[in-house]
Amino acid sequence: MTEVNIESIQTQCCIVGGGPAGIMLGFLLARSGVKTVVLGRHDDFLRDFRGDTIHPSTMELMHELGILNEFLQQPHQPIAKAFVVVNGKVLQGPDFSNLPTQAKFIAMMPQWDFLKFIAAQAASYPDFDLHMGAEVIDLIEENNVVKGVVVQTKQGSQQVFADLVVAADGRSSIVRELSKMTVIDDKSPIDVLWFRLGKPKMETLETMARMRDGNFMVTINRGAYYQTALLIHKNGFDEIKAKGLQAFRNLITAIEPAFCEVVQAIDSWDKVKLLSVQVNRLEKWYRKGLLFIGDAAHAMSPIGGVGINLAVQDAVATANLLVEKLRNGSCNIEDLAKVQARREWPAKMTQRLQVMAHRRFFSGTDKTLSVSWPLRLFLRMFAPVLRKILSRIVGIGFRPEHIETKVY
Ligand SMILES: Cc1cc2nc3c(=O)[nH]c(=O)nc-3n(C[C@H](O)[C@H](O)[C@H](O)COP(=O)(O)OP(=O)(O)OC[C@H]3O[C@@H](n4cnc5c(N)ncnc54)[C@H](O)[C@@H]3O)c2cc1C
Repeated sequence: MTEVNIESIQTQCCIVGGGPAGIMLGFLLARSGVKTVVLGRHDDFLRDFRGDTIHPSTMELMHELGILNEFLQQPHQPIAKAFVVVNGKVLQGPDFSNLPTQAKFIAMMPQWDFLKFIAAQAASYPDFDLHMGAEVIDLIEENNVVKGVVVQTKQGSQQVFADLVVAADGRSSIVRELSKMTVIDDKSPIDVLWFRLGKPKMETLETMARMRDGNFMVTINRGAYYQTALLIHKNGFDEIKAKGLQAFRNLITAIEPAFCEVVQAIDSWDKVKLLSVQVNRLEKWYRKGLLFIGDAAHAMSPIGGVGINLAVQDAVATANLLVEKLRNGSCNIEDLAKVQARREWPAKMTQRLQVMAHRRFFSGTDKTLSVSWPLRLFLRMFAPVLRKILSRIVGIGFRPEHIETKVY
């Protein structure tokens, strides 16, 4: 393809990544009159490989922004109480119905619908400039200060100059790589197999997790089907494939016998996607002219399904701390350090719990997932007080943020 050099853009804030962190930050900054360019690598939001959980604390923020009612008019499934099935026995999991929030439930909504909704809200502000199909391939630096990014689009490459670049480009962040940031890796012992399963006719309860004999499967209700995640040992997919599709289907049916018919639809490995799980965080979330938030700053495991919430909370804290500085062009490295100081603790605490869960659930040195640990852990979790704490951690998280920015 011939490269066409399009005009470069100058803006106050350039956000790399159109995921929950990037879109929410773009919305909040533009709402407060900060000229913001958001760059998303894909042509649309339609990516199938992420969770669909919108948490009570995220909906609390939407309430503070005055958009919760409109959000709840979008198709979603509210889950106030979740159930888990352990070795065939139905047990109650987190219960959000007593949380001190407007929405006392998790809204299950495909992530692309959530992103589309927030982007549509943002689009009503003239300072929001979303570019899809725009992949960041390089940083523009001057005297060790980040001044902007180089973007590849279908039309060619483009430069975006900004007072601040925010990397919200997820757990495989290219900006992280280009900046050679130091990563603290908690080494996830798990990967996830991601596939769709039709719903058996007899399903009645909102069952989110099913465990049997040390195997763990999460079923996310997407209306007509379950988006399903099977947790496996790190790098264990080749071994599973080597045993063949029938053995894989048998494994699913062994975890949940009610899936014996619907599982037959998995007739090709193309229908099963491997998602490599990471749990890590940057030692330092910023450099001059550059800030990392969301998974780019702290990649989350799917355990607990809280990564979207944390990404959104990072965005809110960033806007609260930086809006005025960006508006008057005085955002400096000390201001960026304040974002890390505010958000590092919640990210670390959540990751600590995820790592604990990894160790408890997947501690076996052989390839069989340990049975006794999950059972013990779950029995403990179901004690009422612990359930209350768990519901709060999942539904609200550590150090919830509130909207402090204004509309200009
Ligand atoms: C298997 C799995 C299941 C999960 N399930 C859940 C769940 O149920 N609930 C939950 O809360 N969390 C879940 N998580 C975690 C959650 O998906 C993440 O924590 C969350 O999406 C982080 O949001 P983010 O905006 O920081 O990054 P991302 O959602 O990763 O978004 C980053 C964005 O940047 C874009 N991008 C990347 N590189 C570039 C580039 N060079 N140029 C331009 N754009 C770029 C990407 O296309 C993407 O849109 C799950 C994670 C995994 C792996």
